[in-house]
Amino acid sequence: MLKITFLGTGTSQGVPVIACQCEVCKSPNPKDNRLRTSILVEDENTTVVIDSGPDFRQQMLRAGVFKLDGLLFTHEHKDHIAGMDDIRAFNYVNQQAVDIYASKAVQHAIKREFHYAFDAIKYPGVPELNLITIDDTPFQIGTITFVPIRIKHYMLDIYGFRIGDFTYITDAKTIPEEEFSKIYGSKVLVLNALRKEPHVSHFTLDEAVEMMQHFSPEQGYLIHLSHQMGLHQEVEANLPKGIFVAYDGMELRFE
Ligand SMILES: [Zn+2]
Ligand SMILES: [Zn+2]
Repeated sequence: MLKITFLGTGTSQGVPVIACQCEVCKSPNPKDNRLRTSILVEDENTTVVIDSGPDFRQQMLRAGVFKLDGLLFTHEHKDHIAGMDDIRAFNYVNQQAVDIYASKAVQHAIKREFHYAFDAIKYPGVPELNLITIDDTPFQIGTITFVPIRIKHYMLDIYGFRIGDFTYITDAKTIPEEEFSKIYGSKVLVLNALRKEPHVSHFTLDEAVEMMQHFSPEQGYLIHLSHQMGLHQEVEANLPKGIFVAYDGMELRFE
């Protein structure tokens, strides 16, 4: 059994955006409230979180996560790493360091942003972590296998992941064709879709839908939405069959 929980489905500012008075930010529909993009991946034995943005603490509390076997990063942008300091809670409760799975580039950013966790003589209470390097090679965290998929976030090389029948891609602008074979056959495909208007480093709604139709999963879910995308209900109503807008708290189960 594999269980996926969408911890956050919003772009870097989250939705609502601070001080914004637009109809999406003022929407009473809870599906229009989006924390920064992150998912929880669980089987019977293993719990992994992908990305720890600024909402990480709130996401761990809301989803009731009591142990963490690994924190895995897609890339080093602030909305995906800013909350990492709060792994301290897992350090206290589980009395051990947290395993962090990240590319060399992400590790470089982590060492810069959280430099105090790497001091020779550490101030008491800093996050304790074990950095584990990932590259294009498939790897295991506990009993879950991850196949890295190399994608482009404008100029930046970042990772998506295939986990069994499930493929998770966030912050893509292009997916190199040589990586397509890793995605084909996914029952569920998650792709980012920022808004309707063009953007330099993120798929638009049309680009994401076109990619979905290329890979034709049984179900496709869109994440990393901006408030500029529009109301959840209206966007979803206009999507082709089998494509949906993900929302915070949504769960998927695979046998
Ligand atoms: Zn707004
Ligand atoms: Zn992002």
